[in-house]
Amino acid sequence: MYYDIHCHADKLSSKEIETAIKENFIIGAVGMNLESNEKILRLKERYPKNIKVFLGIHPESQSYFHEIDRVIELIEGNLDKISGIGEIGIPFFYLEGKSAVEKKKIKYLGLEIFERFLKTASKFKLPVNLHVVGSDIHLALPLLKRYNIEGALFHWYEGSLEDLNLLVLNNHFISISPDILVNKEYFEFAKKIPLDMVLLESDGPWEYDGKRGTPQMIFNSASILAPFHNLTTTELLLKISENTYRYLDQNKN
Ligand SMILES: [Zn+2]
Repeated sequence: MYYDIHCHADKLSSKEIETAIKENFIIGAVGMNLESNEKILRLKERYPKNIKVFLGIHPESQSYFHEIDRVIELIEGNLDKISGIGEIGIPFFYLEGKSAVEKKKIKYLGLEIFERFLKTASKFKLPVNLHVVGSDIHLALPLLKRYNIEGALFHWYEGSLEDLNLLVLNNHFISISPDILVNKEYFEFAKKIPLDMVLLESDGPWEYDGKRGTPQMIFNSASILAPFHNLTTTELLLKISENTYRYLDQNKN
């Protein structure tokens, strides 16, 4: 089995999902809002073994923040089907071009929503699938500590080496996206992430140089990463699966 731990599977076509399943993929499907969370639960019904459900509200989607109560209800009502909470985190890109006052307001509101999800994750011991950009980990880490959340996944994380070290010291995970295939700078950063904390993701259908992200891109990512860890692609993929089991271990769905 291969793992794509962060994918917007509700936006993939049935054909794309079925092709990935035929290739033995398990897909960590992350929700963006109420509608997408409901779609992901339906995907779980259809492909119970290959879909790992993460429900949440995307932190850059402020227009859905008002759905928070209903999304938390959905989480609480589907504990037997879900593997974790996500995509959740801290707004960053959404702040671009806003005034200082607006930025403060959005960040504050975003943190409030994030905290409610973390509280829920802590209550039910659910892994979290996080969108936290660069130095915003300094806002995220104290909150994770406050709610005793260990082994969080920072998806497509890129930051300074000091900040990377902080994530290492706190035993969190980072999933590497196929952006390593097209972005040299990000690839350089990704090579420095200690292998024990590495997971792989497509963030599909996000496009990489015009190419639609699908779970199979994990193979390409693994093949360019493997030599830097002195492993074959197969060995690296095995290590990624072991890491993913550790990440998901807090939950059995
Ligand atoms: Zn995402």
